[in-house]
Amino acid sequence: MSYDKNNIFARMVRGEIPCITVHEDAETLAFMDIMPQAQGHTLVIPKIAGESLLDSPPASVAAVIRTTQRVARAVKTAFSCPGLIVTQFNGALAGQTVFHLHFHIIPVYAETSLKMHARGKADPAELEDQARRIRAALAGG
Ligand code: 5GP
Repeated sequence: MSYDKNNIFARMVRGEIPCITVHEDAETLAFMDIMPQAQGHTLVIPKIAGESLLDSPPASVAAVIRTTQRVARAVKTAFSCPGLIVTQFNGALAGQTVFHLHFHIIPVYAETSLKMHARGKADPAELEDQARRIRAALAGG
């Protein structure tokens, strides 16, 4: 499959559609997953085009991993979750539904099981509140 430059994440990078951002720099963007599997579920993407880990330029992969580590630490601080899953899918058969490289940061809590992948939109106000907590942790507050 060739990269579709109008996929939803590419459009977010171009500012054509909104997202609830927790971090942005020259190479990467991190934002709340609109259909979270757990409270604090965050996505991290490179700004450069690439469908998956396999076809993305190494510099872009390095940048997105750096941001993923930074945001994962902030998510852990913000939600005090005892566990944290970081996942990344390559190809529809593997579960990929948006074809622009991204990493999921999914908190795991002791008494809450994960919701289904990419099902059921969260309340935007709750996502805004979660993003505010992650931003504060990123800022060291
Ligand atoms: P994938 O299945 O490709 O690994 O993950 C795509 C993720 O993007 C899913 O977890 C899904 O909930 C999320 N997603 C899909 N559409 C949107 C959207 O419009 N905005 C945001 N913020 N997340 C989305």
